[in-house]
Amino acid sequence: MPTRGIYLFDVARFPVYLDTSGLIFIGLILLLQMGGGMVGILGAFLWIVAIYGSILAHELGHAVVGRRLGYGTADIYLSFFGGVAVWSGRTSRSRRDQLLVTLAGPAVNVVLCILFYLLMRFPPPFISLLAPSLQGLIGDLYWINLMLAAFNILPIFPLDGGQALRTALAYRMRGSRLVRISLQVSFATLGLVMLYAVSSSRIFLVFILAQIAFQNWQEWQQVRR
Ligand SMILES: [Zn+2]
Repeated sequence: MPTRGIYLFDVARFPVYLDTSGLIFIGLILLLQMGGGMVGILGAFLWIVAIYGSILAHELGHAVVGRRLGYGTADIYLSFFGGVAVWSGRTSRSRRDQLLVTLAGPAVNVVLCILFYLLMRFPPPFISLLAPSLQGLIGDLYWINLMLAAFNILPIFPLDGGQALRTALAYRMRGSRLVRISLQVSFATLGLVMLYAVSSSRIFLVFILAQIAFQNWQEWQQVRR
């Protein structure tokens, strides 16, 4: 459960909050760009808007589909690690509904990724009139949405892919066996992505993966025989 942080605005009647870790994330990015003067800070600001805008679109995917399927309303939190939609209503729905709500988030990023790719490849005339930094922003938005879709769909718990795997496994099994198998898949995938992150010196990714691995390990201690 995220800390409430600060209320930002409502989108489609969902309240959006920036939690404390998100504030720290933005502070860090701006601090790192201080040396670049106003141009550096403006670039960092645009990047923050691009990344949180894409994360917000992802969470709205979950929230809008969830509301349609009777999950009630959700509070959306933006944080250091991304975002989360916290439901106020009952969420123990059918497996089909759970799968739809889970996959709606990454699906939004896939659609946005395709959209920004097309804008890059076939820029409408008005885009080429815009400042190069705004053209660069379209390239950033393409990459951010590609990464958000790819990362979230990995079968790592509690990412969307890991949750979808548990829901899919629930068609065949129950209880601690289900959790054990999903955690084994999660550990194997974490290992592979960690190899990639370490070999390409992606420190931020290493940090996130280590955090998830620790959570998985704690849950493993509860279900292992
Ligand atoms: Zn998601």
